[in-house]
Order: sequence, then structure tokens, then C-alpha cells
Amino acid sequence: MHKSIILIVLLLLAACSLPLPAETGGGVTSLEAERHLALGNPSGAEANPRFADNYLMQRPQFVLAYNRDTGIPNWVSWHLAAQDLGEAERSNNFRPDPDLPAGWYAVTPDDYTGSGYDRGHMTPSADRTASQADNEATFVMTNIIPQAPNNNRGPWVKLENYARELVRQGNEIYIVSGGDGELGFIGEGRVQVPAATWKAMLVLPAGDDDLSRIDANTTVIAVRIPNDDALVPEGADWQDFQVSVDEIEQLTGYDLFGTLAENVQAALESGDSSDPPAAVAGPASCETRPDLSRVPDEPVRIVTIDKQAETVTLENISAAPVTLDGWLMCSLTGAQAHPGIGGSLAPGESRVFPNAGNNIWSNSDPDPGALYDAQGQIVSYYRE
Ligand code: MN
Ligand code: MN
Repeated sequence: MHKSIILIVLLLLAACSLPLPAETGGGVTSLEAERHLALGNPSGAEANPRFADNYLMQRPQFVLAYNRDTGIPNWVSWHLAAQDLGEAERSNNFRPDPDLPAGWYAVTPDDYTGSGYDRGHMTPSADRTASQADNEATFVMTNIIPQAPNNNRGPWVKLENYARELVRQGNEIYIVSGGDGELGFIGEGRVQVPAATWKAMLVLPAGDDDLSRIDANTTVIAVRIPNDDALVPEGADWQDFQVSVDEIEQLTGYDLFGTLAENVQAALESGDSSDPPAAVAGPASCETRPDLSRVPDEPVRIVTIDKQAETVTLENISAAPVTLDGWLMCSLTGAQAHPGIGGSLAPGESRVFPNAGNNIWSNSDPDPGALYDAQGQIVSYYRE
């Protein structure tokens, strides 16, 4: 037992030091699955049918620990990055998981029918849209938990949306979620309804060598939301249900973020539930009025906006190249983003960014422009 845990840790460490493959769909490779487990295997699940209440299932799109006795996952873990977000349509093809061990009952979509509970995704459909196959994968019933509608369609989905917004603003996120406690069973006793659903997210600026960049100041967001409509008011937000990761660990007995150093875990997991996520700036949105108290106009400035021609000219006034990937250029009157901002600007270079065929800049009214960096900080402001 101890030897096998040590072996798993060694394998994970070895995997983490290797370059990760392309982070999109496609064929199953162990490395694709292991990016979802880089922060650990919370319950020590194993891909061995003898682990019937803690059975590890690895897919390119997410990894989970399935529990045959409860008919739901103990937890589902996945990494979310810009490459995961594409144009694939929501498949809606809920289906029994074809990859369960022979002889196990596979929960069906019908087991939820008429129960009053939603088929609640853990890895959301909208987190896997790089390909149709990636999206389909999220509809296996092993990725689904019975969720009270006020939970699933309220604060739960709001946090899912917030996560994708953070990714679009230049972050990547490690996410693990599941349920705890028990309210009873549906599906003729085959599917347990947990008393709450929980989620823990670790947010990093997009980059390489993730484990080496995580420290006591890394942003962690954790929630635990009651799985009971009466306890989740209409209009509730995910911030109303923030908890510490330690609280989730105590309730579940799992070790989240277990591959991080103990002192880092101690710092990240004890966070006061009332603390808002501190280190994540923005996210910048063209709907938000920019804070103009500090506009550096460096390293990049807006030189001009030609509203008739729908072009924006940006200049790198610094002595170093600047990458504009993840930056946001807003028309504030229309609350619209100027498309096509990206790539690298050499020192001193200015470039015209066209917006052919579109019309976002107002020709008749004053329409200031705001440029934000990938962290959501305002960089430059253009007044008329
Ligand atoms: Mn959902
Ligand atoms: Mn932990």
C-alpha cells in the first residue's frame, strides 16, 4: 500500500517534469490524462476494479474517481486552459459510461428522470469545446452528479462561467470538484444525492512549469454549495458559498493539492472563507468602466483610433518585445472588443490592427478606447 503510493508520487513527479503534449482533444495519452492530476489524486484512487468505491478513470478530457456504491464520482479533476475553449457545440449526449469494469451497473440518464435533480456536470460541457469529441466526453454519466436546480443553475454555473472568463483573460486553472454527505438516493437506489457539491480551483497566469510557479500567494477559490433548493436562494452568487480547502478536506477525507509542498498547502488551504480571491486581477471586460486613476501608457500605448476605418494603432514604447496575446482593446461606448489584438510587438514598433467588415467604433458619439493587458490591468486609454 505505502509502496504503491510512493510509486504513484514518483510517476507523477516524473510526468510533471516532461513537456506536456498539445492540450486539445485527440487520442488518449497518459500525459494528457496526467495534466489533470498534476496537483494530486485526492483519494488515492486506482484503476483497479477492486477499488470499487474509489476507481480511477482517466480520459484525455478529465480524470475521476468513480464510486460504484454511490453511482457518482467521488471527485473529478481537470485542467482548464485557453486551448480547451473552442467552437464545438454542446452535444447533450448523456449516456452510460462505456468504460466501467465488466459487470458493474452503469448509471443511465433515465436514472435521473423525474427525480427533481439536474444531471449536473462536474467537468462542464462548456470547458471542453476544442473538439466535438472533447465535448461528448463530458456527457458520460460518471461525470454527472444529481444537482439541485438552484445549485446547478445558480452559483455553480456562475463559478463555471467565471473560471472560463479567467482563462480568456490569460489564466490557466486546476479544478477538482465533487459532492459530500447524503440526502438519499434516486434511480431505484442506484444514485446517491450528495448534501452539497464542492469545488476547488487553483488559478495561475498561463505559462509553463506550473508546479514550480505555485507558492503561498497563488490564488485559490473554493466553494461548497448546498444541494438543496431551499438553501440556495434565487440570485445567489458563488461568492456566498466560499469555504477554505481545509473545510472540504475535513468533510471528504481527501487531500486536495497533495503534490504541493506541505507548507504551501497549509497556506493555500486555510484561506478564510470570507476572503475574496485576491491575486486575480480583473477580469477586464468591455462592460466595466476602467479605473483611470492609474493608466501607465506603457509598455504599449494607443497611438490613435480611426473610427471611420475601424483601425486601432498600438505602439510598443518599451525596450523589450511585448506579447499582446490575451490583451483586450475596448470600445467603451458600445462595450465591444476590437478583434484581432495579439501577437508580438518589437521594441519601438507600432502596428495598425484592422477590424475589417465590423463596426464597433461609434462615428457619431464620443467613444473612448481602453487597452487592457492579459492580467486585466488597464494599460492605455484613448480619449476623444
Ligand atoms: Mn452544471
Ligand atoms: Mn491538501
